[in-house]
Amino acid sequence: MHDDGLTGNRQKLWGSVTLGGSNCPLCATPARQKLDLSEYQLFRCNHCGCWSSNAAAHRSRTTFEPVNYFQNDAADNQRWREFFRQYLADDDERVALLDLGCGTGAFLKYVAEHHPQVRLYGIELDPTRASMARAQVPSAHIYCGLLEDFAVTSSIEFELITLWDVFEHLPQPREYLEILRKLLKANGTILIQTIYEHSLLPSIGRLSYYLSGGLIKWPARRTHDAHHLAFFTKHCLERLCRELDLTICSMNFDHLAFARTDGAWWVRAVAAGLMNLERCFGHGLFITLAVEKSAAPSAPNGKSEERARLG
Ligand SMILES: [Zn+2]
Repeated sequence: MHDDGLTGNRQKLWGSVTLGGSNCPLCATPARQKLDLSEYQLFRCNHCGCWSSNAAAHRSRTTFEPVNYFQNDAADNQRWREFFRQYLADDDERVALLDLGCGTGAFLKYVAEHHPQVRLYGIELDPTRASMARAQVPSAHIYCGLLEDFAVTSSIEFELITLWDVFEHLPQPREYLEILRKLLKANGTILIQTIYEHSLLPSIGRLSYYLSGGLIKWPARRTHDAHHLAFFTKHCLERLCRELDLTICSMNFDHLAFARTDGAWWVRAVAAGLMNLERCFGHGLFITLAVEKSAAPSAPNGKSEERARLG
């Protein structure tokens, strides 16, 4: 066990469970209720602009239960390829990568096949998915449990940490990012892909609620479903990184792949139409943020120059 102050951090985590809602999950400022979706409410922090939901505190059921959610992970191959092009040089050897919320291991499998020199670690809460990840990627070390428990026993310093569609599920994104920062090697990179609250679809959800005087809730509920606890804007992410002393290397916007949608035919048809609208008028449903532990003006292998260009 390494002495990095994480034990104290862990106590802080357990002592300050917010589960979203009335306290902002990023800055702890009291947040104002903006939308009442019956089973749960959406709040917006006036201080940092982060949105949050109290669905977990109300134990609200999600209406989004796609049967093929993890089977469609291959739709993200292009994003994964781009990530390694930017952040892993060919001569990087024995780099340690941690995938938080690794699910059934689709991303880790991709890395094992394309970058076999990378040492792979995954954290997954669900025991069934963790077992599937172990079976799918035998070379990866899969930890089944909470990040804070992994952190107090791990002495590994990671060069790369990834959170694909995970950040919005965390009850305490700020505290988790602080823990990940401690697990990160100097000049290492954390990549967060999450939903962009100011993109077109969540905006339509909120607008339909406001314009109908709160009568039409479905679009807001579908775009802020109960399994998501926090919804991020560019501004609140920039502020969070500044406060945690993380340097933003790049911030990109991306669209949802049609293969990632699920449901009845008419739901997919509506989703396809809205996604086309998003492509024409929106920023992109996803925001992809790459941050570094400290500014590194020069590094061997030229990665920093490329990051500066992309940033
Ligand atoms: Zn806030």
